[in-house]
Formats: sequence, structure tokens, C-alpha cells
Amino acid sequence: MTAETDARIARLLHHRKAGLALGEPVVPPISVATTFHLPQAQGAAHYYGRSGQPTWDAVEAQLSILEAAEVVSFPSGMAAITAALVCCLKAGAKVMIPSDGYYVTRLLGRDLLQVYGVDVVQVPTLEMADHDFSGFQVIYIETPSNPGLDVVDIAGLAKKAHAAGALLITDNTTMTPLLQRPLDLGADLVVAADTKAPAGHSDALFGHVAGRDANLMARVREWRRQSGSVPGPFEAYLVHRGLETLEVRLSRMCTSAAVIAERLAAHPKVRGVRYPGLPGDASHKAVGAQMANGGFLIGFELAGETEAEGFLARCPLIEQATSFGGVHTAAERRARWGDAVADGFIRLSVGVEPVETLWAAIEGALAG
Ligand SMILES: *Cc1c(COP(=O)(O)O)cnc(C)c1O
Repeated sequence: MTAETDARIARLLHHRKAGLALGEPVVPPISVATTFHLPQAQGAAHYYGRSGQPTWDAVEAQLSILEAAEVVSFPSGMAAITAALVCCLKAGAKVMIPSDGYYVTRLLGRDLLQVYGVDVVQVPTLEMADHDFSGFQVIYIETPSNPGLDVVDIAGLAKKAHAAGALLITDNTTMTPLLQRPLDLGADLVVAADTKAPAGHSDALFGHVAGRDANLMARVREWRRQSGSVPGPFEAYLVHRGLETLEVRLSRMCTSAAVIAERLAAHPKVRGVRYPGLPGDASHKAVGAQMANGGFLIGFELAGETEAEGFLARCPLIEQATSFGGVHTAAERRARWGDAVADGFIRLSVGVEPVETLWAAIEGALAG
């Protein structure tokens, strides 16, 4: 972590202090009020729960510190992605999305954006940099992509998008603002599923949009008010609590992932290991450049569906679940969801278990 990141984490942990009066709670209250005391219509911090409320303020303050940008929170990653795309597009516009990114984003392109007259063009992550951007209003990227872990050069794409008159939106879910900073690299908006590592305990759906253009962020905020796509106060509280330990958890998860990726790559039953932190990986060039480290996600292949399902069922320290970024190591065979990957391809999300215990369990399950 850079000194700048360290300072952000410290500020995040103490962000409420300056505003606390004597005897007030250190952690933010879970505010369930939908209405606020309004003897007059103007001048109140809050007036109706769909427009804004104190527990959102607390978590958005933390996320703003991490992103160094304005943040609008949403009830899920998809709600944030929808908000960003709807606010940047209109009928007749053209958007480029990755053909190998999070699959629900592709469904949104097909079932919502196309239906409302937006031309949605799918391009593989690795081909985006060479694609012609003319005529596009939005270039939408995910780097590293989920689940293939391919990367694109965010700064390069931002330059190219802006030269073509397009905005660049980056889904930063796989990295979080601690490990990758798309806004610093020229992206216009960041979208993220805080459901994953930021919340971190597989118990809250949440998302956010971050950006530094006040007009664009005002549109995103207004979209939340008009669409009613609002986070719950309890989820906001859980994400606030999760963010306080994000750096500690990520540190363990990423260090362990590097160890496990190296050992998987050396294992005779394992093929096609993808981990950006491995020196031979196709995405390694981005590590140290735009990614702080290789992250906590690993892709690898076993011989086929039977071998992969058998391995997952046998390993006592792998939670068989979709999603990633939680404290429990989790994995799944992505072909179950129709991702364009081999039948034996597994996406492994490394959790916070002590690494040698975790590796022993993985090695034992690989032995069969
Ligand atoms: C999980 C995920 C999403 C969607 O987030 P939800 O909170 O489940 O709506 C979006 N993008 C990526 C890369 C994801 O992994």
C-alpha cells in the first residue's frame, strides 16, 4: 500500500470523530426513519428517506475517502451499474461492454438498454484497446475481468475514449479502491459491487457509483431518487462496518492468494492457472502499474466437469458458492452459469483462513 492509501485507511477509521458531540455513539446508528422533523421545508439535512438518510451518509463518507470522489450508494452492484449506464446513455447511443465480464451486465445490456434503443456492442476485454471507439458514447470496462482475469490499460482506454468523445465507466469490483484507482487513471465513473470484499462477510448486498464530475454525479443521485433504487439502512451499516476491516482482510487474502496461485501452478493436476500476480501471467503487466497487487481471485482448470465438481465437494475449506471477496474461501465452476470458459474451470476466491491450513485442504482435495 502507498502512503496515500495508508492515510485514506486511517481517515476512514476516524471519519466520524470530528462530528461527534459529547456522549454520541462512535459507530453510526442504523437510522430507520423515513421521515424527518420538518417544521419548515428548507434547510434540513434530510427530508425523506428515499432522497437521503444518515446511515447512507456514514458509508458514503467512508467510500468517498477511499475513492477521493463523490459517491452515491445503491442497494446492489447491479443497481449501481444500471444507474451509471442509464445516466450516461439515451436512445440512439452506443455503448461498448465486455463480452467476458460479469454476465448480468450483459443481460442488462440485452434486456434493458437494447430494448430502450441503445446499441450495445460486446467486445472481449483483450480486444477493446484495438477497437474503433468512434460513434460510442460510453466505453464500459471491467479489469481484471470476472471470471477470466484479463486486464485492460485504464489510462490508455480513458485517453482513447475521451478523444472519441466517449465516457469511460470502470467496474472496479474485483480490485476495490484500495488496490486499483480508475478515477485517478482517467475513468469518468467507477461502479462497484460492495457486496463482495468491501462488505466482506457474505451478508449484505450493496453497491456504489463514484465520480468527480459534479453534474454527472447529480444525475446519478437524481436517478436514485426517481427510480427508488435505494439501499437499506441495515445494509449500509454492515458495509460501514465491513469497510473498517477491508484493508486488513485484503492484505491477508491477497498474500494468501499469491502463495496458493504459485502452488496451484506447480501442481500436476492443475492447468491454465490465471493469477495476475504470477510473473508469467498475461495480466501481470498491470500489477504494480495500475493494480497494487495480484488480488485475491485465482482461475484454474481441472481435467473436466467431474474432476472440478469432485474437488470442490471434497475440499473442507472451500465454500461452494457463487460470489467472491468474503472471509470464507469460496469457489465455483463458472461453466454452471454459462460463462465462456472450459468445463473444468474454477474461480477461487481466497478468504482469510491461515494460508498453510488452507493449502493443506486444497492439496488434499486435489489428491482426490
Ligand atoms: C457481483 C458483481 C456485480 C454485481 O453485484 P451485485 O451486488 O451482486 O448486484 C457486478 N460486477 C462484478 C464484477 C461483480 O463481480
